Amino acid sequence: MQNSETFLANMPDIQQAEHVLHEVFGFEEFRSLQKDIIENVLQKRDTLAIMPTGGGKSLCYQIPALIFDGLTIVVSPLISLMKDQVDQLTAYGISASYLNSSLSPQEYESTLDKIRRNKLDLLYLAPETLLKGNILNLLSGLKIECLAIDEAHCISEWGHDFRPEYRQLSNVTKRFEDAVILGLTATATPRVQKDIANSLGLADANTFVASFNRKNLYLDVVTKTNALQQTLNFLRRHEGESGIIYCFSRKQVDQLTQDLNANGFNTLPYHAGLGEDERTQNQNAFIRDEADIIVATIAFGMGIDKPDVRFVVHHDIPQNIESYYQQIGRAGRDGLQSDCLFLFSYGDANKIRYFINKKTGEEQRIAEKHLQKLMQYVEALQCRRIKLLGYFGEHFNEQNCGMCDFCTGNTPEKEKITVPVQKFLSTMARTEQRFGYNHILNILLGSRRKEVLKFNHDKLSTYGIGKEFSRPEWKQVYRELMKQDIIVREIEHKSLKLTPKAMEILKGHQEVYGIIEEPVQKARVKSSAKSDIESLDFNRNLFALLKEKRMDMARNQSIPPFIIFGDTTLIEMSYYYPQSNESLLNIHGVGRAKAKKYGDDFLRVIKDFCKEKDLDERSKSDTHQRTKKIKKTLSRDSRPYQVGQMFREGKTVSVIASEIDVKEGTVVNYLSKFVKAGHSIPSDNILEASQLGDPEIKKVQKAFDDHGYELLRPIYDTLNEEVSYDQLRVVQLYTMVQDHT
Ligand code: ADP
Ligand code: ZN
Repeated sequence: MQNSETFLANMPDIQQAEHVLHEVFGFEEFRSLQKDIIENVLQKRDTLAIMPTGGGKSLCYQIPALIFDGLTIVVSPLISLMKDQVDQLTAYGISASYLNSSLSPQEYESTLDKIRRNKLDLLYLAPETLLKGNILNLLSGLKIECLAIDEAHCISEWGHDFRPEYRQLSNVTKRFEDAVILGLTATATPRVQKDIANSLGLADANTFVASFNRKNLYLDVVTKTNALQQTLNFLRRHEGESGIIYCFSRKQVDQLTQDLNANGFNTLPYHAGLGEDERTQNQNAFIRDEADIIVATIAFGMGIDKPDVRFVVHHDIPQNIESYYQQIGRAGRDGLQSDCLFLFSYGDANKIRYFINKKTGEEQRIAEKHLQKLMQYVEALQCRRIKLLGYFGEHFNEQNCGMCDFCTGNTPEKEKITVPVQKFLSTMARTEQRFGYNHILNILLGSRRKEVLKFNHDKLSTYGIGKEFSRPEWKQVYRELMKQDIIVREIEHKSLKLTPKAMEILKGHQEVYGIIEEPVQKARVKSSAKSDIESLDFNRNLFALLKEKRMDMARNQSIPPFIIFGDTTLIEMSYYYPQSNESLLNIHGVGRAKAKKYGDDFLRVIKDFCKEKDLDERSKSDTHQRTKKIKKTLSRDSRPYQVGQMFREGKTVSVIASEIDVKEGTVVNYLSKFVKAGHSIPSDNILEASQLGDPEIKKVQKAFDDHGYELLRPIYDTLNEEVSYDQLRVVQLYTMVQDHT
């Protein structure tokens, strides 16, 4: 009798999962692939889940863990993250814990005790802990339902983060026969993926690979001219937001930290030259919103899980495109728009080249190739996502991503650019459409470069006729030509070709309009790239007050603010002005437990604000959608329907049980299902089935009041295991009936 959620047991698996998503986590719907993965895990099929950072991997094992009877073990190499992860789950009212060296002997012992008494739904462990004899023996004696292996790429020597202990996990998996194995990683390379499957014995596992496109990241590459000034300009647009700035060296980190602080920004440094204590302190200050900006070498990032990092700046060139992707990936895990700025200079690229030249053989060749890929990304005259995702083997073919410098390089004011366009096109025509952008540009600007002279292109009538524009301005012309389908780029030879449109323009039959001036460095976002939440015109003043409240509460409880509520939640509160517990539960990210724990504090701020400003609550248009969605019509010949009808006719639970020859608990389950499907039953005769006395019933009801009635385990624990799950389920049914009427 361990399962806290058996009342859900009659629903199809994925409906149970949706129920937990809505009621416990307060989320509206699954993200791409989450549903498939969870369904697979619930059916105990070994699974490999490959999703980018922020893709929502955690829910893929957290939700099944709440549905399974037994324990879910989460293997993770990141000891520093375990506490935050467990704190986060605890805030959702979930029973989770971890074992690692940071616990005191007493804490360690008390966790072991909880494991023995089957009190946990989730247990986080580092692989070396799981491999310890005593732990392994303890766990082998329990019902382990799922073994989730986070950061599964650590098992592969090809990955960037190989950990030998991971190799031994394959022996362990055999010891838990009932456990479904779920490997999770954000590493996209096929070689590593294969290695994971082989090493974990997941040959037959289903593999799910999500798109690596992080839609909410705005990608911008800008030529570095005055790095400090450019950084400051950028930061002024992100006042008060959290962000990371990556630099090449420790010295630069220290210098930039100083400069930013001198300019009034709240900044801390992070690099391997600092003592461990200082590094931990700085990292914590960042996670807890006490410092806005971290200036770091690449040493920073692995151990942080902060969902609301709003920007990542590459003050200097990253090592390669993979680390660039990983580093920008730390922004915007919560799905809100985040800004990534890359200040690029050829001088920086040469620095990397210098290190490459010191290498030899294969290593040198690989490093060379990495740099080349990075340069292709930087120099690309097309949507940034094409090259970036292309590196991971993903084909990106959206017309306009709306979230990169190339795709948004237009201001509202367009000018007539027919003449420069004609110059460009006729140069293409005169060179038989056999050349690429740079060569055409060299001709237009009258360059003396070798290739220009070699082909006698200095003799062309268009040689040197484009000097009225700078290179960046010509780049804009080119962007317009590509965007307006006037020219296309042939993939194989990289030469530019004229389209029929171009012919019309060359003949003077058609004018062209576009933007020549350098694009303003500002994220201008296509509205379709915004999430629903971001499109809300929310009240900034209230948002600031709610953030302050969150900060106070987080300080008091020594937890990071995002554990209480994410920004998305505060944004919705600042738009809908919920005034009651009911409407609060409709807000994104507010599950039952959090509403109970933190709801009143936030409601008070909202109510005071609304009273003072004379504002009314707005109803969320999809109000009740969460509950509606999971309602499923019961067919008339289904057991729950028949049992519901019998109860409506006045038969008691015990009478029905003996009539249809099932246990009373099963009747209660059927009734729950009946009610959840939207039918009503009289509440008068329910409680007697619990055989509890009035005072006990009161106690149970109080516990439901405090913890919500979705998960029974917290109630069972609060009441010191004195009331059985069967009895709790009866009171739960009663509460539900009252709630639905
Ligand atoms: P990953 O482990 O893949 O990097 P996480 O599991 O940490 O990603 O999820 C990233 C963020 O997205 C978290 O803040 C999480 O609460 C949120 N999230 C995950 N799934 C959903 C969902 N279905 N709806 C709304 N938010 C979600
Ligand atoms: Zn784009």
